[in-house]
Amino acid sequence: MPGRPGGAGAAQRDTGSQTALRERNTRLVVTALGLNGPQSQAALARHTGLSAGTVSNIVRELAAAERVTTSPVVTGGRRSTEVTLAPDRRVVVGVDIGRSHLRVMALDASHEPLGRADVPLRAGHEPADTLKLADELIGTLLSEHGVDRSRVPLVGIAIPASLDPVHGSVVQANVLPEWAGINIVDATSEAFDLPVIVENDANLGALAHAVTGRFADVECLVYVKVATGIGAGLALRGRVYGSTTGISGEIGHTQVVENGDICTCGNRGCLETVASTRRIGAELTRIRPERSGDVAGLVDAASGGDPVVTRLLLDAGALVGRALAPICNLLSPDVLVLGGPLTRVAQPLLDGIGQSIRQRSLPAATGHTQFVLSDLADDAEVHGACLLALRHALAEGDDLISK
Ligand SMILES: [Zn+2]
Repeated sequence: MPGRPGGAGAAQRDTGSQTALRERNTRLVVTALGLNGPQSQAALARHTGLSAGTVSNIVRELAAAERVTTSPVVTGGRRSTEVTLAPDRRVVVGVDIGRSHLRVMALDASHEPLGRADVPLRAGHEPADTLKLADELIGTLLSEHGVDRSRVPLVGIAIPASLDPVHGSVVQANVLPEWAGINIVDATSEAFDLPVIVENDANLGALAHAVTGRFADVECLVYVKVATGIGAGLALRGRVYGSTTGISGEIGHTQVVENGDICTCGNRGCLETVASTRRIGAELTRIRPERSGDVAGLVDAASGGDPVVTRLLLDAGALVGRALAPICNLLSPDVLVLGGPLTRVAQPLLDGIGQSIRQRSLPAATGHTQFVLSDLADDAEVHGACLLALRHALAEGDDLISK
C-alpha cells in the first residue's frame, strides 16, 4: 500500500533533516570557536549567523559533553558568558619561512600556544636545507610537549611569495628567488610527512589580526608587512581576501619613484627599491659606516635613538603611504596594522605612513582609520599559519563534535 503524504516516511525525513541541521549548526559554533578563540555567546551568534537562542542551546549541549567550558565575564560593564573550546588531542603547527628567518609554532584547539621556536637563516638558503631544518624544529617542539606527530592533522605554511591557488606552486618569489617554480605543497608535505596548507605570509598576518585580539571582526583591516619585501593582506569581516590568480597585496611593486632604480620584478622605482628593510639598512650603513645594516643593526640603532634611523624610517613610511593612499580611498579601512621585523621600533615608520596617507587621501575615507603597530610583531605570520591550519582541520571531518 503506497504511503500517504505526511505519513511516517515524511516524519522520519523531518527528524533526519532536523538532526542534520543541528549537526550543521553545532559544526558552525565549533568552527567559530576554533578559528576566533574564546568568545561570548553574542560574538558566536555574530560569527555563525545563528540566533542567540540556538547558540545558547548548542553551547549548553557542548558544555554537557565537556567539549566547551563556559565562564562568566564582564565586558564594558555588561555580563556575558565566555565560551572556550576544550582542547582535544589535536595540535596544529605553523611554519613561517622568510628570507632570513624560520619560525615554528604549535597551537591547540583552545588557541593556547604550546610553544614556538625560531632560527636565523642565511640569505639565499636552499629549499632542501631549510625544509630539513624546519622538520627538525617541528620534531623538537612536539617532543618537548609530548605530542606525537600523529596528533597533528595539518601544518600551515607562511611564505613571502605569491602562490598558484590551484597547484600550490610559487608563481612570484622576488624575496626567495631560490624557491621560484617549486611546488611548495608537495615539497613541504614530503619534508614534514604531514598534510600542509600554504598561504602568502602577509595574508596570514592579516588573518592573525582579523580573528584574534583587539581588532577581531572589524569590517576592513589592512595588514602591511615591511621586511625584505613589502606586502599587504586584506581581511574583510575576519575573512582574508584571496584573488583567483593567487597574487594580491603586492604593494611592494607599486611604482613610487618615476624612473627610479630597477626592481627585482624588472620595473623601475617600485616601493621595495626605496622602503624595504634592505634599502633602509643600506642607507644607514652609507651614512654611518660603523653600523650594521641588517635587521638587528637597524633595531639596535633605532632603540638607541639614532636620529638617522628615525629619519630613514619616517621617510620610508612616507613612501609606503604613497602606495597605500589610493588603496585607502578604495577601501576606507577601519584599521591599518603595520608588522614585520622592525615592528618593535617602527613608530616613526608608522607615523610616516599615517601622515602620508592622510595627505594623499580623502579625509572622509581615512579620518576614522586607526594606524597601529602589530601586537603580534614577528609572530603574526606564524600565528596566522596555525589559525589557517586550525580552521581547515575543524572544517574537515570534525571529531570534536562526535566525541
Ligand atoms: Zn618591483
